[in-house]
Amino acid sequence: MHLEQRVLVTGGAGFLGSFLCERLLERGADVLCIDNFFTGAKRNVAHLLDNKAFELMRHDVTFPLYVEVDRIFNLACPASPIHYQHDPVQTTKTSVHGAINMLGLAKRLRARILQASTSEVYGDPHIHPQQEDYWGHVNPIGSRACYDEGKRCAETLFFDYHRQHRLEIKVARIFNTFGPRMHPNDGRVVSNFIVQALKGEPITIYGDGSQTRSFCYVDDLVDGLMRLMDSPAEVTGPINIGNPGEFTIRALAEEIITLTGSRSPIVQKPLPADDPKQRRPDITRARELLGWEPKVKLTEGLKKTIAYFDALLSEGA
Ligand code: NAD
Ligand code: UDP
Repeated sequence: MHLEQRVLVTGGAGFLGSFLCERLLERGADVLCIDNFFTGAKRNVAHLLDNKAFELMRHDVTFPLYVEVDRIFNLACPASPIHYQHDPVQTTKTSVHGAINMLGLAKRLRARILQASTSEVYGDPHIHPQQEDYWGHVNPIGSRACYDEGKRCAETLFFDYHRQHRLEIKVARIFNTFGPRMHPNDGRVVSNFIVQALKGEPITIYGDGSQTRSFCYVDDLVDGLMRLMDSPAEVTGPINIGNPGEFTIRALAEEIITLTGSRSPIVQKPLPADDPKQRRPDITRARELLGWEPKVKLTEGLKKTIAYFDALLSEGA
């Protein structure tokens, strides 16, 4: 265990970042959370503000940052297609300039740095399940490219800083993750379906719903990120962090209807461009190198997430 370290979390007021800040504080770290609040919110970390070991700073990672820390988790980047396509140039800048700025900071401080990469680097994959040595199948000029290629370039930068400057890097390829504190309007499938089911509105399946995704509960994901950060220096990744349980989007809709007891009908909408047909992580590396695998089953995680959105909607959000 590495206690009482100063840890920087970029994007710390977002969905995953807020849970990560919480867990780091629990084990005795000093946490500096920076965020530009594009998709994150102060509300997500409001309960941490009284903690003397926690500091929240408004900052955009596309600009240089001068602070003193021992470790950096680089999570800043909108993650949902609606948000990352809203200003695609800013999305690429966030991934690429953000990586350059945070790697520069890590280099000056000789700090260990972890990148929140994504299964999107595999694009619409030809290999199934996806292993880390698969190079991916990404459309470089499509509407998802600002995110996919931005994250791919960030991985390149991380490995070049590692080779060129001997920086200690960790690259996690995160697969679809869900849980409380997801943005209710961010358009991701789990939050969309739950909010629609609770409001009695039609559940919007894009395409015929036969496309698959693998859903990891946030607690498991954060545990994986922390284990990766703590792993020996030679473990650089990339490492898939996700839940290998694979479900069609239609099966997810049906499960959420059952768990909420909703009377919402299912409707079909057009499939967005370049929507990957299937996605499932091979987590052999994470099992072997980190002793990590997810523990929370989809139904159990959905119940907790439904309870969160139920409370949020009854507050009038
Ligand atoms: P999120 O949108 O809730 O969090 C991202 C945070 O980054 C937000 O708080 C946002 O305000 C902040 N941010 C965005 N641009 C910024 C900038 N230029 N400067 C500073 N802060 C900025 O998303 P999340 O689900 O918590 O994702 C966190 C990270 O994990 C992202 O890098 C994302 O790409 C990656 N990831 C998430 C998933 C998932 O399923 N949740 C899957 C793969 C990868
Ligand atoms: N999706 C859907 N209905 C929605 C939102 C998403 O059918 O209301 C589909 C989407 O087309 C994709 C899958 O659910 O096939 C996962 O979408 P999400 O945006 O959550 O993540 P990503 O596509 O980045 O994996």
